[in-house]
Amino acid sequence: MFSNDLSTATETVTFRGPRADRNPGSSVSWQSAMKHAIRSGEELCRYVGIDPETAGVLENRFPTFVPRELANRIKRGDPSDPILRQVLPVTNETVEAAGFVSDPVGDLNASQTGGVLHKYHGRALIVTHGACAVHCRYCFRREFPYSELNAQKSKWAPALDYIRNDATIEEVLLSGGDPLTLSDASLAGLIDELADIEHVQRVRLHTRLPIVIPQRVTSELLNLLGGTRLGVWMVIHANHSQEFDAAVDASIKRLRSEGVTVLNQSVLLAGINDDADTLIELSKTLINRGVQPYYLHQLDKVRGASHFWVSPQEGRQLVQQMRESLPGYAVPTYVVEEAGEPSKTPIVS
Ligand SMILES: *Cc1c(COP(=O)(O)O)cnc(C)c1O
Ligand code: SF4
Repeated sequence: MFSNDLSTATETVTFRGPRADRNPGSSVSWQSAMKHAIRSGEELCRYVGIDPETAGVLENRFPTFVPRELANRIKRGDPSDPILRQVLPVTNETVEAAGFVSDPVGDLNASQTGGVLHKYHGRALIVTHGACAVHCRYCFRREFPYSELNAQKSKWAPALDYIRNDATIEEVLLSGGDPLTLSDASLAGLIDELADIEHVQRVRLHTRLPIVIPQRVTSELLNLLGGTRLGVWMVIHANHSQEFDAAVDASIKRLRSEGVTVLNQSVLLAGINDDADTLIELSKTLINRGVQPYYLHQLDKVRGASHFWVSPQEGRQLVQQMRESLPGYAVPTYVVEEAGEPSKTPIVS
């Protein structure tokens, strides 16, 4: 699955137990971290000292994928840990719930050519790569046929042609999967090609990697993001303050020092961050690191994720509580994605 990016992984690493390897100067390469990711719920449970049966583990067709760098931030022996619950495959995923379907956001209809999704005015999204650095159990793409829409297979050309031919596109989003699972060389090639298109002003990377495997923020990556004529925006994805550690903080600091504007999006998830204290703490963690809270997403109704559902009424109350205890800029916009709409739809009180 990750073969094209792992060929450069050369280091041999010995993994120690949870929390053993948290410093930013870690010698573990990100490719190696991907290669040695935990690939079963049982293994993950063993790694964090939890009985798989108590945790309700059940593998299904969305495979388990959890790098140890992230697993090291899971509290040992706690089956309700907020990081664990985001990544552990459980029996609840087999529940069929009304309205939870395989393509909740209409990405298949919006698909144009060569892996471009062009739903909104002024910005187009390239599905750069099928791979992610972690498999989030609530993800709307858990049912998504990446292989058919993957732009990399056709070497960017059709996606770039599409963007070149539409002068209204000022911003190009790189998403996936996760665009930072591309090698620095492929990414540099793509960003150079985008910078050659006159009407493109900004590139935006939607990625979980600075959180999941902060070693991904390599010097090469920083050079290429700092060196392009394009404005560079990065939207990271954290749902709970426990996802931050010293290595994550360091990676964010390095990105910001290259002039990258860093935003965060979260998904409102039952049992993970559906209480005001947790959301307030997350926002504080973000702004104290110079990261702007951007969106709080209503869960997309994807099959297998109904146990994460929080009602919009509850969500509105939570956001109101955030507003009452945080600076205005620390309150994310609470949105839902509706197929066919010209933007994300705000859920307002
Ligand atoms: C969410 C999304 C965007 C970005 O929307 P913003 O509101 O600008 O963050 C762009 N294209 C697609 C296809 C999207 O799903
Ligand atoms: S697309 Fe994002 S939310 Fe979905 S599995 Fe990948 S990293 Fe997780």
